[in-house]
Amino acid sequence: TNSLFNRANKLLSILEQHGFKAYIVGGAVRDSLMGRPVGDIDIATSASPAEVQSIFEKVIPVGIEHGTVIVRFDGESFEVTTFRVDGDYTDFRHPDHVLFVADIKEDLARRDFTINAMAMDKDGLVIDPFMGHQDIQLKLLRTVGKPKLRFEEDPLRMMRAIRFVSQLGFEMEATTFQALVDDISWIEKIAIERVTTEIKKMFEGINLTNGIELLIRSKAINYIPVLKENHQLERLLINNPKPLHSFTEIIATLHLLDRSISVDHWVKHWKLSNEVKRNATTLVQSITYYMEKRLDQWLVYRLPENLVSSFIRVLTWMVTDIDKKAINDQVVCMRKQLPIANLKHLAITGNEIVALKASLEKGPWINTCIAEIEKQVVCGNLPNCKNALREWVEAWSPPEIN
Ligand code: ATP
Ligand code: MG
Repeated sequence: TNSLFNRANKLLSILEQHGFKAYIVGGAVRDSLMGRPVGDIDIATSASPAEVQSIFEKVIPVGIEHGTVIVRFDGESFEVTTFRVDGDYTDFRHPDHVLFVADIKEDLARRDFTINAMAMDKDGLVIDPFMGHQDIQLKLLRTVGKPKLRFEEDPLRMMRAIRFVSQLGFEMEATTFQALVDDISWIEKIAIERVTTEIKKMFEGINLTNGIELLIRSKAINYIPVLKENHQLERLLINNPKPLHSFTEIIATLHLLDRSISVDHWVKHWKLSNEVKRNATTLVQSITYYMEKRLDQWLVYRLPENLVSSFIRVLTWMVTDIDKKAINDQVVCMRKQLPIANLKHLAITGNEIVALKASLEKGPWINTCIAEIEKQVVCGNLPNCKNALREWVEAWSPPEIN
């Protein structure tokens, strides 16, 4: 991140050389003051998007109407936004119009919380009109300006508040909390994708228990699709929440805690992708298998390598006191010893099976037979060599069909 800050500072210098003001703003300032890792750096400037485009070679116009472009600089991407204030949010998504302004302080005033409303110049000097740094030290989440107005303007800020409590472990300042409780029903108006993005970030938080408690205490859950249908969240708390790192993990966990709500139902109402659906289903299957039979070759074979860490994280919700590292080592070791990695490695093909069973008409029995061979080979009951498999097929007969 240090070099990321160095690059950002170079970018600020260039803008200043052209006569503009420019600052690092928002989450990057907050996180660097807190000593947290900084993900990406946002920049605010007095230059207009067109002026930014004329200064830098690679500029991607991602949101010109809101004053935002992405500048590719020194191998990194920086979101550069012209100082602005927002118009009304009639669609609860984007402000209807934005107004460019000359002063960073006006720009900071439109931001949600004091800890997010600081700017830092290229020499590390912090502009902090709302005492955000003090709130960081007090571990307090406080809106910039009157909380009721700010939440009404953009109810997503209430979801952001819940996620920051989980991420940062802060308390909510009293009037901010009161407004949150009073006005939480407004979150019903926000597009589900924006809500679930914040829920996802909440689940990553190291103070997840506080985040979930707040979600319940504020009654936010009553206005969030699917969560409002049931009370998994109370169950979540009993299970001593541990951070989860993707929608896949979240959906799998929520389903495992209450099987009456299917993975498909979550995916549909939270508008998640087919990939999430597929992976969550695989995770549920693996965890269910583990709870019945523990770890064996068959489980490891069917659990894709890229889902192993997710499997372990979800498992920590289901089983108390599991040794994450031991399980991971075991999975790695067992995977190395698997006789085959996938069906293609089987020493016999579908055609060969059909030829061996010339007396049978082609039909679904072929897949049944292959699946059985696959399982026997993976579990080490049958060697993966042609002769053994041929012999096994010759002796095999399809299950009776009634
Ligand atoms: P993260 O670490 O998740 O990136 P962040 O604070 O950077 O946290 P972003 O969503 O990246 O959050 O937003 C960048 C900045 O833009 C915020 O720090 C805040 O100043 C401002 N901001 C974002 N969303 C809103 C909002 N809904 N209302 C007001 N200001 C906002
Ligand atoms: Mg950010």
